[in-house]
Amino acid sequence: MTTKRKYDFLQCVEAVVYRRLRYPLFAVFLLFEISGYAQPPDIIPESATILSEYIQKRSISGTEKEAGEFLADICRSKGLHVQTLTAEEGNYNFAASLYPLSKGLPNIIFLNHIDVVSEGNNNGWKYPPFAGVIAENKIWGRGAIDLKGVAVMQMLAIEKLRKYAEDMRLPYNVTLLCVSGEESDNSGIITTLENHFEELNAVVAFGEGGTGVSELSHSNPEQPFYCISVSEKKALWVKLRLQMKTSGHGSVPPHTYANKEMTLALNRLLNKPGKINFNEATISFFKTIGRHEKGVRKLVLKHPRFFKPFIMRELTRNPLVKSTLTNTITVTNINASSLHTNQIAQEIEVLLDCRLLPETAPEHFIVEIEKTLGNDNIEISIIKETPSAPVSEKGIFYEKFREALEEVYKGSAVLPVMSPAHSDNNFFRQKGVPVYGITPVLLSKDQLLSFHNSNEHITMEQLQNGTKVYEKLLYKLLID
Ligand SMILES: [Zn+2]
Repeated sequence: MTTKRKYDFLQCVEAVVYRRLRYPLFAVFLLFEISGYAQPPDIIPESATILSEYIQKRSISGTEKEAGEFLADICRSKGLHVQTLTAEEGNYNFAASLYPLSKGLPNIIFLNHIDVVSEGNNNGWKYPPFAGVIAENKIWGRGAIDLKGVAVMQMLAIEKLRKYAEDMRLPYNVTLLCVSGEESDNSGIITTLENHFEELNAVVAFGEGGTGVSELSHSNPEQPFYCISVSEKKALWVKLRLQMKTSGHGSVPPHTYANKEMTLALNRLLNKPGKINFNEATISFFKTIGRHEKGVRKLVLKHPRFFKPFIMRELTRNPLVKSTLTNTITVTNINASSLHTNQIAQEIEVLLDCRLLPETAPEHFIVEIEKTLGNDNIEISIIKETPSAPVSEKGIFYEKFREALEEVYKGSAVLPVMSPAHSDNNFFRQKGVPVYGITPVLLSKDQLLSFHNSNEHITMEQLQNGTKVYEKLLYKLLID
């Protein structure tokens, strides 16, 4: 009796499903098929998975240890010789090499930094900044380009060389050097070079700096240019301070008071046009672009010094180009002592972020600032100064890097540039080691805007192409 009832019930369900629900269910199934939900997921390359996990190890400057240990472990699992150089939280640095450093081989350094800047405005992110989301064939999150993505490319390229390192004696060691504090005080590279410079035995370093960009040529905006940074501007951070004892009520302004005097002085300083100066790196930059231009532009860009008076306006219109041709001053902070609108401040402090061309002596620049401010009561002090370093001349390492880039990116032009920003590179250059800096991928406008900003991302294809560039470079230097 019970069995019969159960049977009736099942028959009933079957009838309802078949008669009433078969079309709606079929429609739902079709929708799933069309939308791709029912398809197996695309195969995600190893580079993307590692980068996604690396991004998830949040490593804002000062908190790099966990992320550093994560990458060091992967290097170990890939058979590289890992040596922790400093194990402190906030200054975690390690080397992962083809051969142990103790072998003392001349060494090719792949330099990158573990730390990232903070996420900034969280609302501006399409995906959470530290989730390492893989979507739209891209890996999203802080550090995807600057510089965790590069570290992954470098590591995977070194791994490819491992089988050769076992079978034959290669002329160089290769070391992935991962350091902390690049985005803050350069503490990682400073500590590393202070304590391990001899041991690293570097003959060259490949770091960050330039990148692949298009739209540099007017005649051919599609033409990609891969810019390798061979020198850097020097950062000089300056504090201006003015104290003036005056009356304090805003209703009866004295003839002169601290904020007024400082404003007038800053007006003189910021309105003074910067002097244009061409150095070897910028001349070479314009000449290479000139080769891809037509007509008068071609002629002018191939002889920028000669045509300087005619092209100054045009050159300084683009802030990025301008920054490579002049010393710049940016007012980044103004801080006065008064708290209320009706109070006259007795003291004002201003912070200036100055970036100097490599050929400018900081002491001369300070004298210039002093003269232009035109107020003897303003005290000027230097808060931070990055090292001056020689330009890394083009040599065999540059040429092989150029070849590798041109082979991976057919039809591209490679050129040396001076980077307007400062990085860890100059610490090696200062010690006589040439450094060539580039994130070896062609970045879109969106990606260029995402630097230190929201929606930082890199495509899977870029990750793979970048890895290929490093791989070809190593093959050329070690095997060919
Ligand atoms: Zn960076």
